[in-house]
Amino acid sequence: MCLMHTLIQECFTGTPPEVESAAREEGVSARDLARAISRGRAVIPANPRRSHKICAIGEHCRTKVNVNIGTSGGRDDPSLEMEKARAAIANGADALMDLSTGGDLQEMRRKILGMDITVGTVPIYEAVRRAGNAGDVDADLLFNVIRDHCRDGVDFLTLHCGVNMQAFDTLRADPRIMNVVSRGGAFHVAMMAGQGTENPLYAEYDYLLEILAEYGVVISLGDGMRPGCLQDADRHAKMLEYLTLGALANRALDAGVQRMIEGPGHIPLQQVQYNVQIIKELTNDAPLYLLGPLVTDIAPGYDHVVSAIGGAVAGMHGADFLCMVSPSEHLALPLVEDIVQGTRVAKIAAHIADISRTREGYKNPREMKMAQARRNLDWEEQFRLAMYGEVARDVHRRDGDIETCSMCGELCAVKLVRDIFSEKGDREK
Ligand code: SF4
Repeated sequence: MCLMHTLIQECFTGTPPEVESAAREEGVSARDLARAISRGRAVIPANPRRSHKICAIGEHCRTKVNVNIGTSGGRDDPSLEMEKARAAIANGADALMDLSTGGDLQEMRRKILGMDITVGTVPIYEAVRRAGNAGDVDADLLFNVIRDHCRDGVDFLTLHCGVNMQAFDTLRADPRIMNVVSRGGAFHVAMMAGQGTENPLYAEYDYLLEILAEYGVVISLGDGMRPGCLQDADRHAKMLEYLTLGALANRALDAGVQRMIEGPGHIPLQQVQYNVQIIKELTNDAPLYLLGPLVTDIAPGYDHVVSAIGGAVAGMHGADFLCMVSPSEHLALPLVEDIVQGTRVAKIAAHIADISRTREGYKNPREMKMAQARRNLDWEEQFRLAMYGEVARDVHRRDGDIETCSMCGELCAVKLVRDIFSEKGDREK
């Protein structure tokens, strides 16, 4: 057991301020949340070097949404990325990941860290930039970059510790159509192939945990072997990575390091439930951060919808943290409107997941009031209750400000039946 004083250890004996704050936000008992953190079933990514709005993920918490932003070699425009970050926050993002690979990476990261939100990064991207190519990244460089991100105040780091030699061998023995689609996963495969040595994040995992414990940073165990198409979903590499991540998750908890697990990429809808359950079982219910799942490969341009369908089902079965997918997925670097649409759709999926988790979750006050407002044709109340009320208002008003709506006009079923029941004095029931 690590002797450093981490949030996990504090939660064994009390309720630290960040836990109190998160519990208030979630409307749950601070003691229950502290217990979940001490058991590794919830995390609060909050680097002590930076203060920002606290976001708890996992047991006792609402399903959260992350939004990826960041420059690329093809479009290096920091002001665009900041506009996307602001749009994500305005539309309900709970966390941002800076995935920048173009321009001044540290400057971009520091700009994003200036925002009032949980922030994650993927240090291998910067290590590859500094080395010039993935094959030349060595352990010292990678650990130095990780320390730099921790010092800058990043709250959680995606680290592909499960992309090890065994996974590489499994990929070769049981090939997949898309091989490796995780950018971080591909970099680690290139490192191992180029140098013929084990992934340092796997080989020196205890050292990595010491760094993370020292800085109070959450590890998000990356799913470098996630399938890149439905046809690859049942190949061996993904399952092997689940087993590896399960063992690494337990070691992190023993070292007092908060951890999340990432998964599972492109998988058919009928496989979502058991993938979530396998990961949860292997990791003793660690918070699960989903990239997708994308449940069909033939709807580019609408992958935000594809992902939301997979995310809602995964959330129903226990996933905790959804990564927004934008309409530009698989096609281009997203623009601001892509981020707006992707974030909104992901938030809707997260809400659907939340109401599905308990037998009567759908009887929450907001859903019930919306039903009453619709019954009463109370448009202003509907716009107030709607997740994105201004959108609803604009659609309704485009054919004028009428009592019903232009779908049925005077033949409005709601009005007709409401008036019948109203005559019987039942209207307000
Ligand atoms: S007009 Fe038709 S669609 Fe519109 S509220 Fe009435 S029943 Fe619903």
